[in-house]
Amino acid sequence: MSLVTELVCVRCGRPAAPAGPWTCPDCGPDEGILDVRYDLARARRTLTRESLAARPAAHWRYRELLPLEDAYVPAGGAPLPVGAGLSQIGWTPVIDAPRLAAALGVARLRLKDEGRNASGSFKDRASSVGVAHAAQLGRGEIACASTGNAASSLACCAAAAGMPCNIFVPRQIPEAKLAQLLAYGARVFRVGGTYADAYQLCSRAAARFGWYNRNCAINPYLVEGKKTAGCEIAEQCADDPPDWVAVSVGDGCTVAGVHKGLRQMAEAGWIGWSARMLGVQAAGVAPVAEAWGKAAAGAALGTLTGRELTPGGDTYADSINCPAPRNWRKAVLAVRESNGAFVTVRDEEIRGAVRLAGRLAGVFAEPAAAAAVAGVAAAVRDRVISDTAHVLAIVTGSGLKDVAGAMRAVGGPHDVRPDPGEIERIVLANTR
Ligand SMILES: *Cc1c(COP(=O)(O)O)cnc(C)c1O
Ligand SMILES: [Zn+2]
Repeated sequence: MSLVTELVCVRCGRPAAPAGPWTCPDCGPDEGILDVRYDLARARRTLTRESLAARPAAHWRYRELLPLEDAYVPAGGAPLPVGAGLSQIGWTPVIDAPRLAAALGVARLRLKDEGRNASGSFKDRASSVGVAHAAQLGRGEIACASTGNAASSLACCAAAAGMPCNIFVPRQIPEAKLAQLLAYGARVFRVGGTYADAYQLCSRAAARFGWYNRNCAINPYLVEGKKTAGCEIAEQCADDPPDWVAVSVGDGCTVAGVHKGLRQMAEAGWIGWSARMLGVQAAGVAPVAEAWGKAAAGAALGTLTGRELTPGGDTYADSINCPAPRNWRKAVLAVRESNGAFVTVRDEEIRGAVRLAGRLAGVFAEPAAAAAVAGVAAAVRDRVISDTAHVLAIVTGSGLKDVAGAMRAVGGPHDVRPDPGEIERIVLANTR
């Protein structure tokens, strides 16, 4: 049984019925983002250490905190009616990275490597819940508009579940992500326009053809999948908690979701601690950090609107290049509730973090994921995080997602002729 009780508008606080529309009728589709609430007292009864110890190593282990009936939780017992190929998502490793910690200037650093998910990014957590939720609503087909990871992840999860999938992408999608879409067999519409154009086209087509719309911006259920990363951090670090959790921010769903997962695990009696959230945006496109700054300067979050935020310039970290975020309020509220902060990082710092994470921790991060690592160094420099802090940074996507982006960060090989003398010269000169 699903333990969802109601949806609540993050702007006006009014409750809405779970079966109703996906945004608040009073605040409208732009500002009226909803948050899913649960019967946590009930969840607490079965979400015990003993019961979790016996559950599968996948994000479905938190089924009490998911908006799904039991029959639609793939690893929860009965198989998902549309196919059981979704069972291996989440439960990604937490890796101690002492040499990277020293380079960034913190006492301890752990990385949660989300690149190990089925399609190579954190988005699989949301997409898998989206596909299961679509099946629960009796929808036979699914769609989304995305600059990359949400799309490749949805195509992966839909293929695993045997559900047809429609994807709308803007022109500048990295090639690896496009290749994934096509390999997973999605119908891909490459839109000659902006991301906003792709988004509008997708919403219209979803309404017209009755497709389930995976767009995180308005679908309140997807953040529930992202939340499971926070649940896992609670469980994996239960007896050894981090002071801060760093995560890169585009639309804002991810940072809000991770915080919600940690908080609900505390409310369910699982942990007695909380962690401060560090939201990291690229300096070129930082409307959520801007909203945070405005709120800190006294602006009321209820009256501030997304239109007042600067769309910004550009960043090469494509997965967080989100000029018009919808979930900025959810993100700012989550970071504030955690007593956290936002920082911004320049593209040059992101490229540096791609190199450092690879060389000092053996983790190959895509630029948007490396931004979280860069943000840790920036936060220490700005005295937001103390150098004695224990930090966990979420590496949200694999470097293989954007090889061209990686190549702009990592330098080149030694081009040599087939001549042992050249090898000798380079090795003896001790150049790497
Ligand atoms: C989507 C994404 C993010 C940011 O998530 P939001 O919910 O848009 O804030 C960060 N890193 C990667 C790799 C992503 O794909
Ligand atoms: Zn409202």
